[in-house]
Amino acid sequence: MPPSVPPAGRPDGAPPECAPADWHPRTRMVRGGLERGPHMETSEALYLTSGFVYPDADAARRAFDGTDDRYVYSRFRNPTNAQFERRLALLEGARFARATASGMAAVTAALLSQVSTGDRVVASRDLFVSCHYVLSELLPRFGVTVAFVPGADLAAWRTALATPATCVFLETPSNPGLEIIDIAAVADLAHAAGARVVVDNAFATPVLQRPLALGADVVVHSATKYLDGQGRCLGGLVLCNDEAFDTDILQPFLRHTGPALSPFNAWVMVKGLETLDLRVRAQGASALALAEAAAGHAAVAAVRYPGLPEHPGHALAMAQMDGCGGAMLALDLAGGQTAAFRLLDSLRLIDISNNLGDAKSLACHPATTTHQRLSEEDRRAQGITPGLVRISVGLEDPRDLVADVMGALDRAR
Ligand SMILES: *Cc1c(COP(=O)(O)O)cnc(C)c1O
Repeated sequence: MPPSVPPAGRPDGAPPECAPADWHPRTRMVRGGLERGPHMETSEALYLTSGFVYPDADAARRAFDGTDDRYVYSRFRNPTNAQFERRLALLEGARFARATASGMAAVTAALLSQVSTGDRVVASRDLFVSCHYVLSELLPRFGVTVAFVPGADLAAWRTALATPATCVFLETPSNPGLEIIDIAAVADLAHAAGARVVVDNAFATPVLQRPLALGADVVVHSATKYLDGQGRCLGGLVLCNDEAFDTDILQPFLRHTGPALSPFNAWVMVKGLETLDLRVRAQGASALALAEAAAGHAAVAAVRYPGLPEHPGHALAMAQMDGCGGAMLALDLAGGQTAAFRLLDSLRLIDISNNLGDAKSLACHPATTTHQRLSEEDRRAQGITPGLVRISVGLEDPRDLVADVMGALDRAR
């Protein structure tokens, strides 16, 4: 019989006592979900243990039949992971949060746990390449039909959701095209079609965008990116408000398939969250400065950054993302792949890396790296041109970042 254990945090899913409801987000980032141990340590404790012991045999029985709320095994629940989950739940405005070993473990669990053969899923077309794999290759192998729509086109969503669906999946801003999708409008259409809406909030983070408040049902995160924020550990999360989804659908899937987050990684993430607001806003301000500077350079055919007024999703991004375009931008170079490679090879400060969300600024060429496995046609549809360079703006002084990119652009011409 599968063991039944109450969810982390209070059994009703409410925030723990150590996070009063009137705390503002920055206070929650530093103290939310903190649960001190018997030594009253200042910093969150790291419980690097796979198992837990019981004072007697009947206590073990009571833990497994759900009478007692206690930790039984770290694949199910762990006190360090619980602090991380509670903190993120407070930031996203979610009742339930489940940590996973990576962002892709979160995406896969959020989707695979809820679909069955014959179901239909509707997804935005511009996706991180592994999300695209799960939707375009994995789910169809189990008899799930997936329809892709251009995410910024509400008429396309309306048409796709005129047919009933089980689930909608979208990413906004998208990776790497930085497309902005109207979460509230898509959620209305999805709910009318009977679908649960899953939003990948990796790029915006809860600092800039809280999809559950906009009507989404489930939020997934790659904690690897901004939640850690310093390029150290892989991690992910699935968050929601629906107790039935959490208890009956998601938790059994996570507990028995085992994509559990290491408590060490959870501890690193908890410390990363303390500076989330400061980092994301500073990186967003630097991204805007870089986008504005690069827009005037002759080597640049187009700058894609939701914070620039010429971005087609600018007004929506400003309303949906707390007035900030985020810390990711992309430059489309007039000289194609040759110019893109020359730009990357001419950078002196920014590193070439396919990772993102780090304190160190990172740049990559999506067409030949992160999105290489897409067909030429899919790449074209997602706007991943041969000249596209994606930049994850870090915490260095923005003057140094602008100088590095402008110098490299001069050399790339
Ligand atoms: C990186 C990323 C993921 C996957 O996260 P991992 O932690 O690398 O597994 C999913 N979605 C988006 C938007 C991402 O950028």
